[in-house]
Amino acid sequence: MKRAVWLAAGAAPAFWGAYTWGSHLLTLGSVWRGPTWRYAAALTFDDGPHPEWTPRVLDILDRADARGTFFLIGRRAQRAPAIARRIALAGHDLGNHTWSHQSFWRCGPRETECEIRDGHVAIAAAAGAEPRFFRPPWGKTNLAMFGTLRRLGTPCVFWSVQPESRRPVDPAEQARRGIACARPGAIYDLHDADGVPGAGARLVEFLPALIAGLRDQGYALVPLHELL
Ligand SMILES: [Zn+2]
Repeated sequence: MKRAVWLAAGAAPAFWGAYTWGSHLLTLGSVWRGPTWRYAAALTFDDGPHPEWTPRVLDILDRADARGTFFLIGRRAQRAPAIARRIALAGHDLGNHTWSHQSFWRCGPRETECEIRDGHVAIAAAAGAEPRFFRPPWGKTNLAMFGTLRRLGTPCVFWSVQPESRRPVDPAEQARRGIACARPGAIYDLHDADGVPGAGARLVEFLPALIAGLRDQGYALVPLHELL
């Protein structure tokens, strides 16, 4: 009996470790960058739509005649359908970034499925177009996520360049890093809304310089479906 209790106590963390940490082995089959034969890169924007910053990002992309990919949070898209629709109509790709931006390390299989499906449905309803890609919040995966994505037909897309991660980085430094890290097929992870406080404001400050710097190096800036 004692042995069974001990085994159960040991098995739960082991199972959770495999379900969360272990699932990251499966990300080897996910998208981290595009093909390297062509001078193209994808700008991707997470965590919007934000009522102030996302329209300004769209204005910057319009003026530069560049297309990107927006990984929207479902409940934010539901609150800002006009912005979601503008993203789709301007020719940018849509991605699903879950319903409420929960970490999948804290979600069981059922909650994981709801986060993905509810996000997908809300974004499609708000934007009038289905999301084609998926990105998990903070890049954290679990084993349940991959099955749901297969059924929805939305590949999991990570990134190869992240000018700002968990802590705020000065806009000029983000532009410098982004330009220095340019490679054919690069996927840029940018944020048009908070995660890290103030991310949207910093993005609109450095995005024009990043676009100009990448263009100077000869990169075409394309939505993910075109890059991949
Ligand atoms: Zn996010």
